[in-house]
Amino acid sequence: MDCFFCTDEYKDYYQFITELKESIVLLNNEQTYEGRCALVTRKHATELFELEPQALSTYMAEVAQVARAVKEVFRADKINYYICGDIDQHLHMHIVPKYKGGCEWGQAFLMGGHEVFLSGKEYDELVEKIRAALSIP
Ligand SMILES: [Zn+2]
Repeated sequence: MDCFFCTDEYKDYYQFITELKESIVLLNNEQTYEGRCALVTRKHATELFELEPQALSTYMAEVAQVARAVKEVFRADKINYYICGDIDQHLHMHIVPKYKGGCEWGQAFLMGGHEVFLSGKEYDELVEKIRAALSIP
């Protein structure tokens, strides 16, 4: 299958954080919004309504769990939740921490145009912080 998330292609753009029951939790390499993550469904689907009700419920609970962890760890003022998938259609929710006075505060989150990349050690530190907030050893 020629899918960005079903193949290993996504690994060039994300750091692995953990696997939950219905999702894989990834840290975006692009970190204009410190702590920005995505939850990718474990099964290939393109729309929320394709998930079975129990899977949808669990997936949304996992989104909330990760959003809470990210908000606490990075002291974000608001989490933005973003699903588009025009290009990479495999269902994934972006968890975008927004900060008062920061990038695009008070505006829609725009996917493009940002170029904040970190070192491997810095990614590891962010991943560890999020894992700790999720109580994952
Ligand atoms: Zn897929």
